[in-house]
Amino acid sequence: MLVPAPDAARPDSDGRHAHLEAVRAGRVASVHSWELVTSVDGPGTRMTLFLAGCPLRCQYCHNPDTWQQRDGIPTEVDDVLARLRRYLPVFKATGGGLTISGGEPLQQPAFVTRLAREAKELGIHVALDTSGNLGRNASDALLDDLGMVLLDVKSGLPDTYREVTGRELQPTIDFGDRLAAKGVPVWIRFVLVPGLTDAPENVEAVADIVERWPNVARVEVLPFHQMGTSKWERLGIDYALADVQPPEADHAESVRDRFRARGLQTF
Ligand code: SF4
Repeated sequence: MLVPAPDAARPDSDGRHAHLEAVRAGRVASVHSWELVTSVDGPGTRMTLFLAGCPLRCQYCHNPDTWQQRDGIPTEVDDVLARLRRYLPVFKATGGGLTISGGEPLQQPAFVTRLAREAKELGIHVALDTSGNLGRNASDALLDDLGMVLLDVKSGLPDTYREVTGRELQPTIDFGDRLAAKGVPVWIRFVLVPGLTDAPENVEAVADIVERWPNVARVEVLPFHQMGTSKWERLGIDYALADVQPPEADHAESVRDRFRARGLQTF
């Protein structure tokens, strides 16, 4: 967990104006946590920063504790940058970098824009992990500073997307179209949930969307798992997938083959 800088502590009423000003300027964000990871969230060893707050309510969410922005820790961009500087040799040795994730990072676009720019100026590769639902919040300047985007396409049929997330599919397609027009490298993520996202017509619809984007470097089909269940219980939220089993390995592999049949490198 990131430790907030002393002057970024939760503001009292006197400090509220200064705090809001810092948020607007992108100097402070609500952060859930961070971790150092290898071989996930992008190439090499990465510092993944999880911002708090998400407008989606995915039925399979493993991190419902990131949903509320108010539950995060106010954190200075300079604090994050200081940590990143410490990891520079690791990033350099492994071809890694920073991944800005959530929650939904584009719910706090000023901070993300500032962090991406300053990290890039340090020579750090920056990835953005997003559903694309708030893609309209991403400026062209931000996209220019990203080394890549991890784009979650949670379903390909609008009705299924709505059932899975509670939101609309189209903003994700629109954001993917912008990334394609700009040539930003993209890894697609699709979570395979038996009985929810694995209908052949839904899988083909995801492949139809992704196939149109020439900047997609890989597709990751991620088998649903139950590792987030305890968080739902702890938060007292009804968990609709409590009885759903992870897909069999050969089922997941057959879905990967549907993407490979479109010429997409798929894992
Ligand atoms: S977008 Fe991510 S954080 Fe938000 S509800 Fe879906 S899985 Fe959870």
